[in-house]
Amino acid sequence: MVRGIPMRGESCKLFFRTDPIKIVKAKGQYMYDETGVKYLDCMNNVAHVGHCDETVVNAATTQMAILNTNNRFLHDNLVLCAKRLTATLPEPLSVCYFVNSGSEANDLALRIARAYTKQYDVICLEHAYHGHLSSLIDISPYKYEVGKFPKKEWVHVAAIPDSYRGKYRGGNTEEMGELYAKEVEKLVADAEADGRKIGAFIAESAPSCGGQILFPPGYLKQVYKCVRKAGGVCIADEVQVGFGRVGKHWWAFELQDVVPDIITVGKSMGNGHPVSAVITTKEISMAFKDNGMEYFNTFGGNPVSCAAALSVMEVVERDGLSQHAAEVGDYTIALLNELKEKHRTIGDVRGVGLFIGVELVEDKETREPATALAQHVITMLKENKILMSSDGPDRNVLKLKPPMVFNKQDADLVVKILDEILTDVED
Ligand code: PMP
Repeated sequence: MVRGIPMRGESCKLFFRTDPIKIVKAKGQYMYDETGVKYLDCMNNVAHVGHCDETVVNAATTQMAILNTNNRFLHDNLVLCAKRLTATLPEPLSVCYFVNSGSEANDLALRIARAYTKQYDVICLEHAYHGHLSSLIDISPYKYEVGKFPKKEWVHVAAIPDSYRGKYRGGNTEEMGELYAKEVEKLVADAEADGRKIGAFIAESAPSCGGQILFPPGYLKQVYKCVRKAGGVCIADEVQVGFGRVGKHWWAFELQDVVPDIITVGKSMGNGHPVSAVITTKEISMAFKDNGMEYFNTFGGNPVSCAAALSVMEVVERDGLSQHAAEVGDYTIALLNELKEKHRTIGDVRGVGLFIGVELVEDKETREPATALAQHVITMLKENKILMSSDGPDRNVLKLKPPMVFNKQDADLVVKILDEILTDVED
């Protein structure tokens, strides 16, 4: 019997659905389709040090030809990778668990948090996304609201500290930081009044799915203090924003001058190879051990994944990519701010390093989100061989999170084409 063409699960969606692209190779910040057309990639924060980076490819393939097995055997790569990773982190964050995806990392972080605090409830932010496992869909309003699933009683959703479009609107000021932190304090108090106990607060250190948001000054400091006072721990999801993307710092939580109890990393860690990690303190990890259950993960911490991750960290450092992200990011943000003055449809430009959002609006006064316009811009950028996505609850925030080798000429091109598209629309 001849079988038909196998189908993709219907809920798996393509980019550019009506006219999808077949990418067959990529290098640095460029991708090439089957006819050889070159695209500038502004969306791929996984190919962190550049698509198919030679150092990373060599490290992973060389190790692949020698040995790949699980971490029940000793292997130098595991130790070297953990050493390198923890060297980028504040002292107490010294224990690593290697896993295979951001979702696995966040799920494990929740388990560790609950084992340590013996408290079950979780605070997350509006519009947050933390992964595709059942445990994480529950704390990802970005997903469960779309699926119209009811919020679980152990989940407490805090107002996203978006000082442009959120509950309080007043720019990136300490006053905003305090107002939004008070929202979390109130959630904790309400939960306790209901007899519930907060085990963890989890947030991206700069919310990406929520629309490329930067926390106002002081926000995390005040939130962490109140969560810890309630007996909970603080989890920083650095899956999208870690490894130098925010420029100058390795980690986005450093922008807020805090030290989380647990951090989760993924995406960029293996430059496309599936490797991720949970890093926590000795004290917290001991409580997880004391629950009596062994933790085993077939692929987590295998020598090939560790070789890939180790080489990514080496390249970030060797090539000064974090500093590069800071410079190119400042340059790009300055150009985009000039565009904002010129165009009535750009309501806000925000970001740090190569984590940038451009919020499109129908009207600067009302800030009505320009969702259809954002989709049109994405389509027109693609016509001009630039790949970008949009995000935020209204999908009206253009999202720049390119490979970290994105340069000033690339920024010039993106801004020039965006200018042309918006001029055309506004005319
Ligand atoms: N956390 C954040 C902030 C993410 O953006 C994602 C993926 N988009 C995840 C966790 C889940 O990572 P993965 O898809 O590797 O499971």
